[in-house]
Amino acid sequence: VSAPKELRAGNVGAVLAALREHGSVSRTDLARLTGLSRTTVVSILEQLDGAGLVAVRDRGGAPDGRLGRPAARVALHPSAGVALGVCFSREDLHAVVTDLSLRVLAERSARFEGRPPATALIDLAAEVADGALEAAGVTRRVLVGAALGLPSPIDPDTGEADPHVLRSWASPSLREMVSERLGTSVRIENDANLEALAEMALGAGRGLRHGLYVHVGWGIGGAVVLDGRLRRGRAGAAGEIAHIPVRPADGPLCTCGRRGCLKSIASGRALLDALAVAHGGELDLDGLVRLVARGDPGAERATSDAGDAIGAVLAGLCTAMNPEAVVIGGPLGVAGSPLVEAAGRRIAQDVHPTIGPVAVRPAALGDVGGALGAASLVVRSADLFGHRVPLG
Ligand SMILES: [Zn+2]
Repeated sequence: VSAPKELRAGNVGAVLAALREHGSVSRTDLARLTGLSRTTVVSILEQLDGAGLVAVRDRGGAPDGRLGRPAARVALHPSAGVALGVCFSREDLHAVVTDLSLRVLAERSARFEGRPPATALIDLAAEVADGALEAAGVTRRVLVGAALGLPSPIDPDTGEADPHVLRSWASPSLREMVSERLGTSVRIENDANLEALAEMALGAGRGLRHGLYVHVGWGIGGAVVLDGRLRRGRAGAAGEIAHIPVRPADGPLCTCGRRGCLKSIASGRALLDALAVAHGGELDLDGLVRLVARGDPGAERATSDAGDAIGAVLAGLCTAMNPEAVVIGGPLGVAGSPLVEAAGRRIAQDVHPTIGPVAVRPAALGDVGGALGAASLVVRSADLFGHRVPLG
């Protein structure tokens, strides 16, 4: 019986979507997840197998119903496509290659010093990406796309970085330049937005649909996820809480020229400046994190005060946006950090009681979160399979 082509295409799409969402799945579960008959599922899998797009991954898991044998589980084969995620921070970059279920196939990183020009950093990204692809055992040919994260608001329409934040990256042809260098279509996105996507899909916000994310490192970044979707705002700056005035009358001067922005009080840069009196100007962010971890009283007090200031701003945002959780990441947003604990206390105290409790959690994915979020952005984009699946 040959089903009409459109119906068949829809069924193939449903099986691929289920595999993408659930990773490795038994044939019986695939039938349940897609609402298709087991016979149809088996026939579609044979077709996908013929095209090299699925693989039998293992024989663990629940019995499949026949003679009590463990069910064979099928998953998308990397040749169904892989996603490349790359994310820059101020001093390093991470790259991951994942399959279309976001399983990490390989991960690479590199550090750099000073402020190299964007062209040099794009070359470095391409080199690190090639290393990750090679380690994953795939070529650029199976890339379905790539995404690149940068520590700047990114214009959602043009993919341009903000020239006031990241001058050397601010080129109207950035997306084309990176696409050409990586040999695949590339999306450019803000780093905190990507970390938020990753935390909501795989990390501390897993299973939630409404979350606020804050990255506390040298600076402060943030992101808003509502109804499972990133909300970028007009200029891509939604969730950027760094320049919300906290002490506008008497606070320290901010890089933006105003006084008392949250960033000027609670960023890693501000904490290092404050701690220079006790620890000298040589202390860097890693050093600060180590001081906090071993209970240095000054570092603990400074990060706790920063957490309180960040929490006060977040409490207002929570009251307005009603998230299920706030996830705090970046080098200073780690489990057990006085910053996360103080922010949690302040949010619990200040958030309006009618919106219900807001969970405050440290990020779970560490410094690979941005690259993972970049890969997830690629996988989430529409119609990955349209031109790849033979519908015979
Ligand atoms: Zn400012």
